Amino acid sequence: MEKFRQSMYDLIVQTSTNLPYDVRRAIRKAKERENAGTRAALSLATITQNIEMADDNVLPICQDTGMLTFEIKVPVGTNQLVLEESIYDAIRQATKDGKLRPNSVDSLTGENSGDNIGPGTPIIHFHQWEKDYIDARLIVKGGGCENKNIQYSLPMEIEGLGRAGRDLDGIRKCILHSVYQAQGQGCSAGFIGVGIGGDRISGYELAKKQLFRDVSDINENEKLQQLEDYILEKANTLGIGTMGFGGEATLLGCKIGVMNRLPASFFVSVAYNCWAFRRLGVELDANSGEIQGWLYQEGEKINFKEENEAAAKESQGDAREVVLQAPISEEQIRELKVGDVVVINGDLHTGRDAIHHYLMEHDAPIDLNGQIIYHCGPVMLKDTEGEWHVKAAGPTTSIREEPYQGDIMKKFGIRAVIGKGGMGPKTLKALEEHGGVYLNAIGGAAQYYADCIKKVDSVDLMEFGIPEAMWHLKVEGFRAIVTMDSHGNSLHQDVDKTSFERLELHKEKVFS
Ligand code: SF4
Repeated sequence: MEKFRQSMYDLIVQTSTNLPYDVRRAIRKAKERENAGTRAALSLATITQNIEMADDNVLPICQDTGMLTFEIKVPVGTNQLVLEESIYDAIRQATKDGKLRPNSVDSLTGENSGDNIGPGTPIIHFHQWEKDYIDARLIVKGGGCENKNIQYSLPMEIEGLGRAGRDLDGIRKCILHSVYQAQGQGCSAGFIGVGIGGDRISGYELAKKQLFRDVSDINENEKLQQLEDYILEKANTLGIGTMGFGGEATLLGCKIGVMNRLPASFFVSVAYNCWAFRRLGVELDANSGEIQGWLYQEGEKINFKEENEAAAKESQGDAREVVLQAPISEEQIRELKVGDVVVINGDLHTGRDAIHHYLMEHDAPIDLNGQIIYHCGPVMLKDTEGEWHVKAAGPTTSIREEPYQGDIMKKFGIRAVIGKGGMGPKTLKALEEHGGVYLNAIGGAAQYYADCIKKVDSVDLMEFGIPEAMWHLKVEGFRAIVTMDSHGNSLHQDVDKTSFERLELHKEKVFS
């Protein structure tokens, strides 16, 4: 098994940097659905550009390299303890090489283990089977989409859809609602795995396991196949679109599994996965550990490069483009409206959960008056001369900062925040009172944005760990869309409202 460690390293690196062929095909279908010049088309062009950049440079597709979950089938008698140690070594190496972000955090102290190894991380499930080779599959699922997982307990009342009973139609309502509640916060357009039955834990496990199915496979259970087709069609009428900007492509895949349950319980569990659907697999020689073949790589590998060049010319559409450079005045901010495309040059400062919490009680390490905060936990690497380099730097989910954001903007005079998925009413009110804007960058486009960062000026509050520290960056041509302005407008609120009205159209019974 001398090759097993290297094979696991290759699996991790490929999963983090190279989107599987079935997922690429689903994303191309989404592109075909959107009209040129719309916000959705612009977002998809950025997404596909990012996919190609990650592939070319062998760097993470998204800076959130997620919870590593392995499903491994081994011949009877294989020493799983040895395999487990090799997987840990491969993860440590991939983290050191900047292919994975250090993502394992002590839940009580907030301390980052620095190498992705810790209690509960990674998740490795071993199974024995009668075959003579090893089948190892890996999914890396980020926090933004993980936070949009949802579990229903039937019977129940579902907002917009009414009573959901313990039958196929009740299940239908749960799944449709799960797509609505995710909005753009899980970096739509997404994929869902659904688990029907089990207990609360095995239901979620079954849901996540569905994500290991090929996007184009056919469910062996005819009723579930019909339900999968129905959900895929109807979810795409909700109009949530890419990143929740509105549009025709909201859901790219739906896979449903079923298991037995206790008579008293009826759970429907949904695992939501973003467009950056990173899961791959390998078949390995059980003696040497060498890779014999890759999974999820059948058929044509779609290369988005050529179509990206054509789309780049068209996708700007009629949106107004405004160049911003900090320090920004209140007057400049008041001129911005929802839908404007902003191009940022100059200073940008990262800040996510730990920084927002810290700034509520403490002074900022630098003068933030007129500045821009970027909700981002980048992947960073230090070279031998001590210089930091950005390896991946897309936006993180902004709604987590909702309790703090408005107060912090007012306290320090911050004029703009960049993130993804939008923010709530408290922040919207603060933007109006103070004169601020919320800018939505494209979630998951970590290579695209890393390319806009021309220099790392310095870093503060490194005690919070690399993703949570405050990085002071110089950017050029950093594009984002105004989705909440200083006049009380929020694209997120508008899309939520219209998608809810469309959800309500599906109240009537469809399956018996
Ligand atoms: S694409 Fe979005 S939801 Fe997915 S891992 Fe990246 S930031 Fe998280």
